[in-house]
Amino acid sequence: MPIYEFECEECGARFEELVAAGASGVACAECGSTRTRRLISNVSPPGRQPRGAAVRADESRRGEREAARVDRIAESRKRRALGENPTPPRQKGSK
Ligand SMILES: [Zn+2]
Repeated sequence: MPIYEFECEECGARFEELVAAGASGVACAECGSTRTRRLISNVSPPGRQPRGAAVRADESRRGEREAARVDRIAESRKRRALGENPTPPRQKGSK
């Protein structure tokens, strides 16, 4: 039996199931909902982590990336304010 990848329309989780071709009503591995649809593409590579966990990690990584970006901007503004940027300070000697 082939492994198919499913996506839950209830909670958005993705998971893989061994199912007979044409099977339907596969229950979500995360929330148990049967509102799942089979994803056509992507024969999954072996040995990766379960999709549900990966999706959640993606979500939190996205948040971290956004926070890191905001941090970098604030940091570079701070450095500029401290005169650590390449352009020379306007007033010499005025500490
Ligand atoms: Zn679900």
